[in-house]
Amino acid sequence: MDKIFLSPPDMGGNEEKYVKEVFESNYIAPLGAFVDRFEESIKNYTHSSCALALSSGTAALHLALRVSGIQQNDFVLASSFTFIGSIAAILYEKAIPVFVDCDESWNLSPTLLKEAISKLKKPPKALILTHLYGQCAKLDEIIEICKNENITLIEDAAESLGAFYHQQSTGTFGDFGVFSFNGNKIITTSGGGMLIAKNQEALQKARFLSTQAKEPFPYYEHQEYGYNYRMSNICAAIGVGQMEVLEQRVLKRRQIFEWYQEALKEFQLQFMPELPNTRGNRWLTTLCLPEKCNPLELVKIFESQKIEVRPLWKPMHLQPLFKDASSFTNGNSEKLFKSGICLPSGTKMTQKQVFKVVDILKEVI
Ligand SMILES: *Cc1c(COP(=O)(O)O)cnc(C)c1O
Repeated sequence: MDKIFLSPPDMGGNEEKYVKEVFESNYIAPLGAFVDRFEESIKNYTHSSCALALSSGTAALHLALRVSGIQQNDFVLASSFTFIGSIAAILYEKAIPVFVDCDESWNLSPTLLKEAISKLKKPPKALILTHLYGQCAKLDEIIEICKNENITLIEDAAESLGAFYHQQSTGTFGDFGVFSFNGNKIITTSGGGMLIAKNQEALQKARFLSTQAKEPFPYYEHQEYGYNYRMSNICAAIGVGQMEVLEQRVLKRRQIFEWYQEALKEFQLQFMPELPNTRGNRWLTTLCLPEKCNPLELVKIFESQKIEVRPLWKPMHLQPLFKDASSFTNGNSEKLFKSGICLPSGTKMTQKQVFKVVDILKEVI
């Protein structure tokens, strides 16, 4: 039997044709018609005014920080319960990450955010807010705090393309929003990212920095340094095909979540919640196991059945890398890490496969 992966790619059908068009045009480069088309389709889907296709979500976060003017030793607040990709760019800029724990939503706690701001020795410059596992964070409360405190809001929507908060796409609320198209995300370009911004000028600056900060001269003139962060036209061609099926992919992920929830009803397990008036994309179905179950043992049991299951993200404030970092915690993400798992949620999954996972899980519980 084939292995059931956590979240493998799922092509819509037109991707190969578009890649072939790239070969025919010979624009096998980090520019070309499909890069423009991919940016357009993200703008249309999210109703944002501008978008910049990049080589990764991490690159997009890095540019957001650069354009926000984050400097060495500035404080940058961030969700602790997230993936390292949310945080790494803070270190690239030698700024200082300050971690904030989650609340019952599993996403950043506005209460702890306020506490962090009031206790820091100097005002933080920015907040990187993750919409974890594709579920919306408490945007209303968090936006208000950021406005009052003059904090740049960067939404890490790497996992949440297709998630809507009060009918509005995640990523479009902050000064910047970031999507990822890594191989395991809800749609993929094999690797890639997108930066969207409220301010056109800021995005123009990011575009300039993403292609080595070349000044508009007939020869190569540089006043500052940039990066080689643009997306390849080949990857963008895959992205254009994937955008055609994004909405279907969201519905299927939500369907898979419902299959799991319904089949496991009798155990009253805690699944990651969905805030009222939001539609998460249920990128991964995640849940907490009963007290006596150890997620790491469960991972091994599933592995022996050729099924990929993973523990929840290990919070940043518990990482050896950040042992000296400031953090504002309440025990929530630590508890989730110790008891939670991600179940296979790929959109190619059949109901039969979901039931197979459920049967193993039931037996263990
Ligand atoms: C995947 C991911 C990233 C990084 O995106 P890449 O495209 O892999 O660089 C950042 N933050 C979160 C929450 C992610 O899941």
